[in-house]
Amino acid sequence: MRLLITAILVSGLIVPGAYAQMPASERTNIANNPSWTAAQKPFRIYGNTWYAGPRGLTVLLITAPTGNVLIDGGVPGDVALIEANIRNLGINLRDIKWILNSHAHSDHAGDIAQLAHDTGAQVIASAADTLLLERGGYDDPEYGDRFPFPPVHVARRVADGESLHLGDLVLTARLTPGHTKGNTTWTWTSCEDNRCLHIVDVGSLSAPDYNLIGNPKYPNMVKDFEYSFAMVAALPCDIALAPHPDMVNFWERVAKRKQGDADALIDSTACRAYAKIAHENFEAQLAKQGADAGLVK
Ligand SMILES: [Zn+2]
Repeated sequence: MRLLITAILVSGLIVPGAYAQMPASERTNIANNPSWTAAQKPFRIYGNTWYAGPRGLTVLLITAPTGNVLIDGGVPGDVALIEANIRNLGINLRDIKWILNSHAHSDHAGDIAQLAHDTGAQVIASAADTLLLERGGYDDPEYGDRFPFPPVHVARRVADGESLHLGDLVLTARLTPGHTKGNTTWTWTSCEDNRCLHIVDVGSLSAPDYNLIGNPKYPNMVKDFEYSFAMVAALPCDIALAPHPDMVNFWERVAKRKQGDADALIDSTACRAYAKIAHENFEAQLAKQGADAGLVK
């Protein structure tokens, strides 16, 4: 199966349905999360930052005169929806230069291989998540082989704090490991008139059903999560976005904006607030797992 997908990718003969053999675990997961494949009209978030994903999974388009950037690629099967959204914004697919990834899980990297093929864009990711992207999500420290996706060829790896320059557009990678080993928070600046704001696409800080203690495939997980909560809380942040829109109350803010509150998406406390809630949830989960394991009396 993996060899077959690799052969298809290498040959460039990716066709819709080439990944039809996804395991039942993944089909069920997608069926249980209908918003992941639900249509959403694309729209401007702020300045050159646009929402181009399905309703329940953030896919961002950042435009620049020298080329455009996409962050994330939905779940396997979202590609037609994402590409239609990009076209509806008046963007030629071939003018997308880079595809970045928040982290190498199937709900954010699911169609990156196909998108890279169709756009000719280079995929850029952290070193640690490059390994997971290139093996198509197999052997995930928490999920094992349950949620694979077509393997992604990563053209360039970024380190923590590294900035990518595309003309005037500067995107900076901040590693926020834990959710995956190479989980990445991307930051950039978007302007409207002379008002320039820090946009932060906060990497996932959740640990859904994770085994936090003594996972031999990720011994430093707890330390990494703790580092990431502090990192996100400290970032300059005017508009917080996230791979799952609900994590930063995105749709509530968008609704408020539609009702006339022009600045409803702007909240310099949003990154800190998300980090705080994620941290509290994590500590509770950790304490429970410790108690269950008899580590804490
Ligand atoms: Zn994830």
